[in-house]
Formats: sequence, C-alpha cells, structure tokens
Amino acid sequence: MCASRRVTLRSHRDARALSQEERANMRRYAPITLTTTRSNKLCLNSTMLKFRDLVLNYTNSEQATIVWLKGIGALKNSANCSKCASACNFVIKKGSYCWRCPKSGCQSVISMRDGSFFSGSHLKLNEIVEVSYWWACEASVSMAVQQTGHSTKTIVDWYNFHRDICAQWFLDHPVQIGGVGKVVEIDESKFGRRKYNRGRYRDGHWVFGDVERGTNNVFMVEVPDRTAATLLPIIQQYILPGTTVISDEWRSYSSIASLGMSHQTVNHSINFVDPTTGAHTQTIEGTWSQVKPMMRKRGVMNTSDDLFDTYLPEYLWRRKFKNDDPFLKMYEHVKEQYPL
Ligand SMILES: [Zn+2]
Repeated sequence: MCASRRVTLRSHRDARALSQEERANMRRYAPITLTTTRSNKLCLNSTMLKFRDLVLNYTNSEQATIVWLKGIGALKNSANCSKCASACNFVIKKGSYCWRCPKSGCQSVISMRDGSFFSGSHLKLNEIVEVSYWWACEASVSMAVQQTGHSTKTIVDWYNFHRDICAQWFLDHPVQIGGVGKVVEIDESKFGRRKYNRGRYRDGHWVFGDVERGTNNVFMVEVPDRTAATLLPIIQQYILPGTTVISDEWRSYSSIASLGMSHQTVNHSINFVDPTTGAHTQTIEGTWSQVKPMMRKRGVMNTSDDLFDTYLPEYLWRRKFKNDDPFLKMYEHVKEQYPL
C-alpha cells in the first residue's frame, strides 16, 4: 500500500520528465471520461453542471432554490393580491413559502408556485430541481429513485413533465431543414416489434426522419402509416423548397419532385450507394441506429402512442442542444413556457 502511494507521489512530481511513450501509456490507462467515449448519451459533456455545484449553489435548501429560480425567472419575483391588487409580501406560512397580501382585513395568500412549472406538486422545489438534474444526466428512473428517495411514480411523472417541455419546444419552434444547395436524406423506419402485450396486439411505431448533410440538422416525427398522403405533406412541412432530397425507392416518394425539390433515389435491393449518382441514405440510417438503442434502453419501443410521442422530441432536443448544459437549457425552456 505504502509502495503504491509512493509511486503515485513520485509520478506526480516527475510528470514533466516523462517520456512520450510513458505519457501515451498514462493516457491509455487514464479513467475513461464520457466526453471521449462513443456513447448514446448526448448530453454528458464538459459543460454539464457538476452535481456538487448544483447542491452547493442551488439545492442545499428550498430557500436557495427559490433564490435561484426567482433569479432566472422560473418563479415570480413579485405578486399582486388577486382580491385587492395590493403588492404582496413573500412570507413563510406553516413552513412553506407563499405570497401574502399585507392589507389588514384581506391577508389573502397566493401560492408561490401559481402558474409555474412547479404548481400542483407536493415536492419541495429543491427536490424537484434535483430530479431535473437526474433527468438532464439521462439517469435511469431507478437510479433517480435511488438518488432522491422519491417513488418510481414521482420520478416517472417528473421525467414526463421534462419531456413535455422538449415536445412543446419543437411545437413553438418548428424546424425546417434543407434549402437551395442542400442535400437532405429521408427515410422511414419501424420502431418496436410486433408483440402481444397483455393480450393486446401492438404493431410498433412508424417514424419518418430527415437529416441534412453537413449540418446534421435532423427531424423525426411519428406517422400513422407510410402512404404518400401522409408522407408528402410532412416532407413539405419540414423540408424547404429547392432541396435535393435523397430517398429509397418507396413508392410514396415518387412525386417529391412535384413539391419543388429535386429527388434522387437509391435502390437498396441492388446497392447502398447508387453507382451512377452516388446517392445514398447512410446518414439517416446512422441516425436511426443512434436513436433506436436509446429508445430500447428506456423500454419505450412498444410504449403507448402518447408516451412514445414525447421520447422522439426528447432525443431531438438533446441532440439540438448537445453543446449546452441540458440542465440549464431545460430551465431556460421552462421559463419560456411558463411566463409569469
Ligand atoms: Zn388583498
């Protein structure tokens, strides 16, 4: 034990004198960091707030969390009485924080959480913010249960609320990709396998996806079927005119050119890259192989339609904001979606 400790100290002291080969060995045996591994997790990057700093700065008490949430505008900084319109005071009543009208004879009380992301929950605000952190880290539900001590139902509910924020963000900020000079690959893929689920027959989910070459801008949306009547309006909605669109030879795509886009196809039963035009759809296929393991890992391939609907936006949201801190970005969007 002593010997190994000595070695560590010595190697620290002598670090500058190490040969290139020794340095390479040190790197080889250095602890693997999530930023350098190929991982399905999109968010764990160097910008991610450390849990230690979260607790130190934001969640060591409910009061600390309130100060932070007020600072970023996710909680009201002032409130007026709903009965007499007087400016309320921020007070503690029976151990919980609220706004109270100072006017004698009125004294009505407004919940601090009124109209906010947090209204209707029995959890303390610092507890909710910590659940947000575990969601941002892509911690599994069971890990979040273990870390927070809350029930599985509580964690599942709050994870759903965060995914709702992602889904709403895409409704508020519709994505259009491509344009003149841009190449967009499109494809549709089946998520989930046919199986009997408590006696019910479930047929998985068809998802339409498109990805812009060069920028990797991507969009995916669940579709009820693969008919031209379903797919063409979606292509028109998400892809800009003038785009060069590449697809397989699925018959629903045959009239894409009529949408003001040029269209190339690749016949997958013969080859993956068209030998004449060089057309291929390997970028979108690579994207499927990234999103599907994530969905499989979370056990949502065969989940109900309502729930499945929010997992795709979560993936897209994490992908879009992969260079941001997902925890802080989530609260930016909470604030945006709950104006106070
Ligand atoms: Zn009042």
